[in-house]
Amino acid sequence: MENKSVAVIGAGMAGIGAARLLADAGFRVVVFDKSRGMGGRCATKRWEGHSVDHGAQYFTMRDADFSREARLACGGDLLEIQSPIFDEAGRELPGEERFFHAKGNSRLARALAEGLDVRTGVTIEAVEDRRVGGEEFDLILSTAPWPQTAKLVGISGAENPYAPCLAGLFLYEGEMVGATAVRYAISDRSGHALAWSACENHKSGHVGEGFTVMVVHASEEFSRTRLEDDPASWVADLRALMEERWEIPSSVFRAVHPHRWRYARISGKMGIPALPEGWHFAGDLLGESRVESAWLAGRAAAARIISGA
Ligand SMILES: Cc1cc2nc3c(=O)[nH]c(=O)nc-3n(C[C@H](O)[C@H](O)[C@H](O)COP(=O)(O)OP(=O)(O)OC[C@H]3O[C@@H](n4cnc5c(N)ncnc54)[C@H](O)[C@@H]3O)c2cc1C
Repeated sequence: MENKSVAVIGAGMAGIGAARLLADAGFRVVVFDKSRGMGGRCATKRWEGHSVDHGAQYFTMRDADFSREARLACGGDLLEIQSPIFDEAGRELPGEERFFHAKGNSRLARALAEGLDVRTGVTIEAVEDRRVGGEEFDLILSTAPWPQTAKLVGISGAENPYAPCLAGLFLYEGEMVGATAVRYAISDRSGHALAWSACENHKSGHVGEGFTVMVVHASEEFSRTRLEDDPASWVADLRALMEERWEIPSSVFRAVHPHRWRYARISGKMGIPALPEGWHFAGDLLGESRVESAWLAGRAAAARIISGA
């Protein structure tokens, strides 16, 4: 199998994890991503002079291989969130090491991709005769969320096991406004519209002096109901709920940015149908919707390719 070529579609955690293992095993690997940067849903927005994680908020490093690779790649930029997360009733969630990248979580993917051939800003619209991005490959590994992968391989009416998530970024004048100093985040599993709200200031290096940045993720139900609505309407509702919960005076509000995640997290399991010869699929769908789980799913797919399975 040595020296075979593989086109990896998607430079998220799964794509980068796979590409590294394949390249180390001697494959010629090119990674394509439609976005301008790497990381996929492990996403960071440079916004109003701040670095804001609007996808994955933090990552765990329970797996020894992932922990080693992430530490090696990120060095001193790999930091741990020190402040607690509370639930909706004000109880502190059990402690677990929660990590972030000092320059934004998308940098984790970028660091892990160091030295790989990654071509960003390239949308793969169709694949014919294993031609991807104008080149022919022996194998294709798609890590695009399943409905997008299914479209590329020509499977119509594919299942969509992902839940959407409506997200809002909010900027306030003043440092640690309202009740943000005492906790990093509130995770609300009660079905309340405000499923997650967090203060980005607790990640050192992310927010500039004199400001507070809040990140909000709506519940699955709210996100499904309002998905196609005008973002200005749902983001205003999320802002009001968040300001009340965090006791932030609206007088210090300065800016907002809404973001719609169509395929945010896995909300149901499904079996992947047989793919055409030469095609492979990986992504968080094969494990859990977590950064390290996606990376491991990519590595597992790469290992199957290497072993010729
Ligand atoms: C709002 C939100 C909050 C989250 N919070 C956490 C958290 O706190 N902790 C945690 O561990 N996990 C969290 N997750 C989950 C985690 O981010 C994902 O499970 C993981 O990043 C998925 O990685 P992936 O590589 O499987 O997919 P993706 O990151 O989606 O990567 C797929 C890539 O494929 C690219 N692509 C798609 N179609 C094409 C095409 N046609 N051509 C070229 N490129 C294409 C996309 O641009 C994307 O970069 C969160 C996710 C979201 C959305």
